[in-house]
Amino acid sequence: MNPTPDYLYFSSKISTQGFCDVQEESGLQTIAMISADIEAVKADAAQDINEIIAQWEGMKLHDLETKQRFCAFMMCIAERIDRLFECPRCGRGARIRASRTLKEENGQFQFAHTKGHRTTHQAGAEVPLLRLVQTH
Ligand SMILES: [Zn+2]
Repeated sequence: MNPTPDYLYFSSKISTQGFCDVQEESGLQTIAMISADIEAVKADAAQDINEIIAQWEGMKLHDLETKQRFCAFMMCIAERIDRLFECPRCGRGARIRASRTLKEENGQFQFAHTKGHRTTHQAGAEVPLLRLVQTH
């Protein structure tokens, strides 16, 4: 369902069949290898960040604006390494956000799913367990 990342597409093309003339093929192969390196760097970054943000579970942020700014900061980090946050309710990747609810005037954290059904899973008023996961 998810398209093969281009660097994998080119890697497999290059290794299984003639793709173009030799000189260009070599350049494509080098770029495919560099792209794979970038993915590895992103995976390492996600792992390092996950160790830190796991410790924030249960942290209390005082008002809605602070929660929203925290979420925006976390989404900024996630987007830079092509990740989403794992929803504790359903396990799928989601965007983290905070909204005022009937239950919590100072805002509740929510995991917003944009793929498939546009659902939002509530996550309480304290910082939920945050874990970066792949977007695909
Ligand atoms: Zn969910």
